[in-house]
Amino acid sequence: MIDKASQTTRDAIAAGFPLLIGGRETPGHAGRTMASTDPATGEVIAEFALGDAEDVGEAVAAAKAAFHGPWSRLSNMQRADLLRSLSRKIAENAVLLAELEVLDNGMPRMLADQIVGNCVHLFEYYAGWAERIEGTTTEAPPHVLAQGEALTYTLREPVGVVGLIVPWNVPLSMACLKLAPALAAGCTTVLKPAEETPLSAVVLGRLIKEAGFPDGVVNVVNGLGAEAGAALVAHPDLSKIAFTGSTEVGKMIARECTDSLKKVSLELGGKSPVVVFPDVDLAKAIPGVAMATFFLQGQNCMAGTRIFVHRDIYEPLLAGLAEFTANMQMGHGLEAGTMLGPLVSAKQQQRVMEYVEDGKSCGARLIVGGEAWQGPGNFVRPTIFADVDPSMRIVREEIFGPVMAVQPFDTDDLDEIAAMANDSPYGLSGSVWTRDLSNAHRMVSRIRSGHVSINCHGAVASNIPFGGYKQSGWGREFGREGMDLYLETKAVTVAL
Ligand code: NAP
Ligand code: MG
Repeated sequence: MIDKASQTTRDAIAAGFPLLIGGRETPGHAGRTMASTDPATGEVIAEFALGDAEDVGEAVAAAKAAFHGPWSRLSNMQRADLLRSLSRKIAENAVLLAELEVLDNGMPRMLADQIVGNCVHLFEYYAGWAERIEGTTTEAPPHVLAQGEALTYTLREPVGVVGLIVPWNVPLSMACLKLAPALAAGCTTVLKPAEETPLSAVVLGRLIKEAGFPDGVVNVVNGLGAEAGAALVAHPDLSKIAFTGSTEVGKMIARECTDSLKKVSLELGGKSPVVVFPDVDLAKAIPGVAMATFFLQGQNCMAGTRIFVHRDIYEPLLAGLAEFTANMQMGHGLEAGTMLGPLVSAKQQQRVMEYVEDGKSCGARLIVGGEAWQGPGNFVRPTIFADVDPSMRIVREEIFGPVMAVQPFDTDDLDEIAAMANDSPYGLSGSVWTRDLSNAHRMVSRIRSGHVSINCHGAVASNIPFGGYKQSGWGREFGREGMDLYLETKAVTVAL
């Protein structure tokens, strides 16, 4: 399928995927490599350099030197200019970045195009916040004022050198949504992409250099989580780790950072509820609910995978979902019309199929799907189980694949419905579907999640804070709150 990609993308693949440390391209001191494959075909796309603890050490040293060196001397406005220049570079290289995402991750091309567009906007958006970094003034303490006039104000300063660890489900987007606010705040960074999707981050790193950022401000070290990732988390010269990934690894990172008290922000897993009331507009709810689960093949932390439907419309909604799902075109992301790509790896396919088999054996009613696609690639047919109950693993655990679990409810009591929706250790996203806006808002206030939508699902954008309640994470990315993750506040008092 690489031959279906543009010449620019083929040239970029031929240029290779080294580590980017201190403005240099390097194979890493041990010269180790690993293959990245196209999950739709199993074809090897490229070998990439695999960094280890020593390479991470070099990258942190470069980031530290940049933090105390040229980067710290730039004004907020100058950093904003660099962010805008990077935004333009991403726009100019949109086809290359989108095609790499499709080849490396498997996502459909139309989605990859949207995601690259979002990344263009993210740097533009956070350039605006770099220009708006501001402190406050307040009254000086009485014991200082007792001696004469005085002034107290606050400064917002960058947290320092930060380690960014990201997953494979939306690789470019995950890297950009951490880099944009970190750079706007004045931090320097070491980025560790996921081993399944190492490619776009290297191209992004090259664009960052072309955009004019000083060497060492962004270092890209591909590598294994247990090696490069763990070395980053353990490194004493980092002030913060920003992590997106599984709740399991997130907890481990939080524990690791306890001794050094590094700042930690975590975007973790989800098992988000979708509540459908009987007055809903079915023609809109059917595609909306289906895509809440199947967007990105369900490899999406926001995925709405626990569907609660009022008994009055339970069977009509199931029939509509089954029809919509059966008509979704599955295939290679570079083929026109593809709505569903493969899962990222054979391991992920196997994991998802174990959940599908578990759903069948525990008595859930299989409505559609329920099998892997025969042939090359890690495809799983979008699968809907009905009549599930809250004790089933397919209802309790994050599957991170195209598996929907639907159950009816008979009550009109919002507290009872909310108790079902909130019966999960996660609290990332959710949606409510109804024409009754008063009921919708009452329901939203009862759902324990960081991000809830009404008559749509997973409405994320640069300006909308995103993050988890409960075990879905710590902190909010995007929006103004995304800046706060990378800024310290310093209070200053001057006795005049
Ligand atoms: P993961 O295994 O937790 O990996 C995420 C990242 O952490 C990867 O770069 C991984 O490297 C690295 N890593 C693994 N072990 C590490 C360690 N001991 N120390 C430091 N870094 C380590 O998650 P995943 O399987 O890639 O992604 C799926 C999960 O991410 C799902 O649970 C999903 O819900 C969550 N997710 C959450 C959000 C959100 O915004 N809340 C967004 C996307 C995904 P390797 O690639 O080498 O393993
Ligand atoms: Mg890959």
